[in-house]
Amino acid sequence: MTRRDDDETARDAYDVVVVGGGPAGATAAREIALAGHSVLLLDREGRTKPCGGAIPTRLIEDFDIPTHLLRARIASARMVAPSEASVDMAITGGFVGMVDRDSFDPFLRERAAGSGAAVVAATFLQVRQTEPGNLAVTFRRKQPSAREETVHARLVIGADGANSLVRRQLFGREKRPPFVFAYHEIVRSPPATDCSGVDPARCDVYYQGRISPDFYGWVFPHGETTSVGVGSALKGFDFREATRLLREAAGLGAAETLREEGAALPLKPLKRWDNGRDALLVGDAAGVVAPSSGEGIYYAMLCGQLAAGAAAAFLASGDARALTGVRRRFMRAHGRIFLVLGFLQSFWYRSDRRRERFVALCADRDIQRLVWDSYLHKRLGRADPMAYVRVFFKDLGDMARLAWPGRWRWR
Ligand SMILES: Cc1cc2nc3c(=O)[nH]c(=O)nc-3n(C[C@H](O)[C@H](O)[C@H](O)COP(=O)(O)OP(=O)(O)OC[C@H]3O[C@@H](n4cnc5c(N)ncnc54)[C@H](O)[C@@H]3O)c2cc1C
Repeated sequence: MTRRDDDETARDAYDVVVVGGGPAGATAAREIALAGHSVLLLDREGRTKPCGGAIPTRLIEDFDIPTHLLRARIASARMVAPSEASVDMAITGGFVGMVDRDSFDPFLRERAAGSGAAVVAATFLQVRQTEPGNLAVTFRRKQPSAREETVHARLVIGADGANSLVRRQLFGREKRPPFVFAYHEIVRSPPATDCSGVDPARCDVYYQGRISPDFYGWVFPHGETTSVGVGSALKGFDFREATRLLREAAGLGAAETLREEGAALPLKPLKRWDNGRDALLVGDAAGVVAPSSGEGIYYAMLCGQLAAGAAAAFLASGDARALTGVRRRFMRAHGRIFLVLGFLQSFWYRSDRRRERFVALCADRDIQRLVWDSYLHKRLGRADPMAYVRVFFKDLGDMARLAWPGRWRWR
């Protein structure tokens, strides 16, 4: 184990410095170390990432997540419409896992350290190119030493989240993905015998304009605690009031509040993730969160994994074109689902009338199958092709009716 909480960095030069030890950075650092390269992972630590913590089966399998990190296994989702009508969607072919980021992220960092990465609790301050092929990365260690240090590297990976400082320094301040803001409250879950209506194996998703005018509200049980939150991109939106309404609606109005926190949630991948030279962005730093759902943990880890492969090719050849392949490979695998989800969000999350119809559509078996297959297994395109055809025509009919009410008489 090469975790470095002491006051000395093991060396002053690394093949790669990864900034940010969340899901993206910790995955990248681990895989770079496993490939035999020297890597320093910097994370400022001390603040739990605000997050609903929902992860799909595919993530648990692909990244070997031990079951002890799963606070709950969700077996169904309740979609709640503006009228309070709801549709329960039983989860088939897997389950949604719930992780707490205050144990999940440290686990990932420890695992990276166990694989040979040097992991340091420090705040990244600056990166600059000193000469071609050589970057100087400056950081400040956590208290008590708070010492400033500079190390050298051939490549820096910016995995430092939505407000990435690496991105601002190396890609320019104007290179910023669009965001929604997401806010949640962690409350103590009601006892199992309670009649609040909260089911510890069901997550509830509220599509109601009063709770979120342009995104949604969620109630995600995590065993002893529950995450209740909302997202919105609207300026001036009252997140606390919306969360209060949501808690009331979910029967959690009187539950003890343990934490209140929020963060930006990027909603569109940047056009470039590399700077054509010696830097790569991954995860939230590159804007890689799925529209509609706001799912980012799986995609961050996948980005980290792809970045590690690209780093190995870059270190071997010195050719920066190896870095460009990360975005290309990611978008080849998931660009289509991002496009579909972006379209769904811009169409269905616009008005209560549309949200009402959207929830009603969720009762459809074909739609449920597609939703769970694409969320749990990331398999858009490989599921039953006839289901796609049926969903396409149902969707088309509904969209046309909503977009041109009165003029559309089909069905
Ligand atoms: C309220 C909310 C709810 C969400 N719910 C879900 C959900 O249920 N499921 C899901 O899949 N996704 C969810 N997301 C999205 C998900 O949290 C992110 O997409 C995911 O965490 C991205 O991982 P990352 O590693 O790219 O970045 P982050 O998780 O943000 O990690 C960045 C890391 O960089 C470190 N860092 C930042 N700056 C510095 C610095 N200067 N020096 C050193 N270290 C630094 C931070 O300490 C942090 O550990 C949610 C997001 C929000 C805001």
